[in-house]
Parts: sequence; C-alpha cells; structure tokens
Amino acid sequence: MPGRNFLFVPGPTNIPVSIQNAMNIPQEDHRRPDFAKLTKPLLQDVNRVFKTETGRTFLFPATGTAGWEVALSNTLSPGDKVLTSRFGQFSHLWWDLAVRIGLDVETIDVPWGEGVPVERFKRRLERDTKNEIKAVMVCHNETATGVTSDIAGLRRAMNAVGHPAMLYVDGVSSIASIDFRMDDWEVDVAVSGSQKGFMLPAGMAIVCFSRRALRARNSAKCARCFLDIQDHINANKDGFFPYTPSIPLLHGLKRSLQILLEEEGLENIFKRHRRLAEGVRRAVDAWGLKLVAKAPKWHSDTVSAIRVPPRFDARDVIEIAYHRYNLSLGAGLSVLAGKAFRIGHLGDHNEASVLAALAAAEMAMRDAGLRVQPGAGVGAALEYYRRTAPPLKVKLSSAKPAPKKKGKKGRIVRR
Ligand SMILES: *Cc1c(COP(=O)(O)O)cnc(C)c1O
Repeated sequence: MPGRNFLFVPGPTNIPVSIQNAMNIPQEDHRRPDFAKLTKPLLQDVNRVFKTETGRTFLFPATGTAGWEVALSNTLSPGDKVLTSRFGQFSHLWWDLAVRIGLDVETIDVPWGEGVPVERFKRRLERDTKNEIKAVMVCHNETATGVTSDIAGLRRAMNAVGHPAMLYVDGVSSIASIDFRMDDWEVDVAVSGSQKGFMLPAGMAIVCFSRRALRARNSAKCARCFLDIQDHINANKDGFFPYTPSIPLLHGLKRSLQILLEEEGLENIFKRHRRLAEGVRRAVDAWGLKLVAKAPKWHSDTVSAIRVPPRFDARDVIEIAYHRYNLSLGAGLSVLAGKAFRIGHLGDHNEASVLAALAAAEMAMRDAGLRVQPGAGVGAALEYYRRTAPPLKVKLSSAKPAPKKKGKKGRIVRR
C-alpha cells in the first residue's frame, strides 16, 4: 500500500528517524575496551527518566514482561504475600506471573475501566497488623483499557497507615510519556520497556530499583538466573553486561535519552501527550462514543480504549482501518475483544499525525456501519488543538509591515 503505515497501537510506537539512524551501525564488540564510554553514561542518564537520584536502573535484553519478573524475583521469596489489583489485561498478566513464580498473591479486582482502588488498598493494609504483605504491585497505566492510576495517592495511603510493604509499579506504557516520580512516590521497583515511551524497538526491559529494593536481593529466594540483577551489578560497574546486549538498542537508547532529557524534555513531552490525548477524547465525544475508562480521573494520556456500540464489532473497524486505510489501531484485548478498539497516542506524534489517525478511524467506523458524522471527531480535535496551540515563534510573511516613517511618506505625498 502506498504511503506509510500509520502506527497507532500503544506499543510498539513510532521510532523517530534520528533514533532509527542511531541504531543503524555496523556490528560491534560488546567487550571492546571502550564500551563503557557508551554504556556508563546511559546507565546514569536513564535514572533521570525515572526521576530518581538514589535508584539504580538495569537494562535487560528482554521485554517488559521480563521486567515484571526481574522486579519480583530479585526482591521476594516463594510464598511471600503480595497485594495487587486487576483491571485490564496487563494488570492481569502481572498477577499471573506473580502467581506462577510462587508468590502468595492477593488481589482486589475492580471492573475494567477503573484503576487502582487506593482506598480499598489502604483498608486492607491497615488490617494487616502483622505486616504479612511484603509488596504492593500495581499497573500505573493499564494499556488495555486506557486507565491511569494515582500512584502518588497510593503511596500517601500506604504511608498514612504506616505499612512497610514495598511498592512495585508497572510503568511500561507511562514512563517517559506520563509523569512518573520514582523518588517522590517512594517507588521500590519501576518496570518499563523500550518500545513505548522510549520510542525504541522492543527488546529491552528497563527496570529501576530503589536502594531498599536493591538490598532485598540479599534475602530474596525466588529462583533467578538470566534475570538476576547481581550479575548486572557485577558487570555494569565496568560498563559491561553479563551477556550480549542488543548494541543497536543501546545506541538507540542514547539518542532517545537526548530527546527525552534535553531536546524536547520530559515536562514538554508530558504536556504534549496530555494535549494530544485530550484531542482524541474530544473526538470520541463528538463521535458519540464512550471510552472504556469510566471517569476523567482515569483517563490515560498514552492510549484511549474506545467502545463501539453493542451491535457492532470493533474488529471490523480495526481490519478495515488496516486493509483499506493503512492505519494500525490497537485491538480490544481479552474481554474487550470486539467491544473496543484502541488508539495509542504515545511517543513520536504531533497534531497532524493524530488527526490523520482520527480521520482514517472515522472512515473505517463509517465503513463498518457506525453512524459517526463525517469529520465530527476530526473537527472537534483540530479545533481543540488550534485553541491550545502554543504561540508562534516566527513572524508571518503576511503580517502588516510596520507603518512607513512619517517623513518619507510626507515627501512622497508632496511630490
Ligand atoms: C506493553 C506493556 C507491558 C509489557 O509488554 P512486553 O510485550 O513484554 O514488552 C507490560 N505492561 C504494560 C502496561 C504494557 O503496556
């Protein structure tokens, strides 16, 4: 199909050309004497994306799923009690992993479309007078439903009842796109991955440990080998890895960190994501459709899961969008299959790219029989983007020239 594929799944996300180019390198020796020149600054700088000064980040040649296991297996022992909540496919899968590696997992399930039930967690922790719960694990941004949870609020609740459990956060689809504060929120382990906000291909689990979580490795008895952070600690100190890292990904990460930390900057990136997401939400409203997220406080700035009316199949929308308009939309996962489609709006996007996706989504929805007004969503989003656009930094050519000097004009008139 001519033109590029419009990739609007919530990961893998679009890769900026400069990152793509940075990864296009001849093969390198991962034990070359000056390898640390590449890796040591990376391991330092990546901490800044997590907003931590005391934490320590590990880069595993794996995906976010491995990051979940890195977090748990390096800090806990089989039979340890952990508290979690499920409200979408990703929070479900992390629960499943915790169960399968032998933890004693207690879950407070809430309907899909809601997020971490902070008050219920608080009451449960308050009842745990013997401190049997060793860890609380939550998904910051549930990618399946487009729901963001209040991690700061959860931390406040944990502190309010004085519970010492460690706090583990899945930030795979939030970190580097939505504000995340490892130190301020006293997060003990934060998990991310390369193919979402970091705008890289999949293949790197990026996992940050607090000092307390690092110490916990000494007593953690969960089986681990490939995922043992101790081997990384030993090798990273000289800038190496315990096994062969994906070197193109490391070069890509270097470029990504320049964008995230220097060129655009995290705070600008968060604002851009908020604004682009708000445009999508206005479009959904104008289409007369509903988000899976049940209330504005849950709205995600990285992904919107959109319900189609009951008599339609969201899979038709996705298939038409792909085959006819070269637009990749996210599928409804698990219980949302056929009931919702997702627009991922994280990573390397701007107004025009999001509007293109909204336009193609409108066409696909109309082709699938949904009665959305042509242009309704696009119109709502573009007006929102226009109203909220930052002031232009250049002067337009059509701008009125400065009035001519009196004297000169006077002379012309007299002649
Ligand atoms: C993408 C994602 C993951 C990890 O998925 P991988 O395919 O293993 O990288 C985990 N949690 C959330 C919230 C995600 O969006």
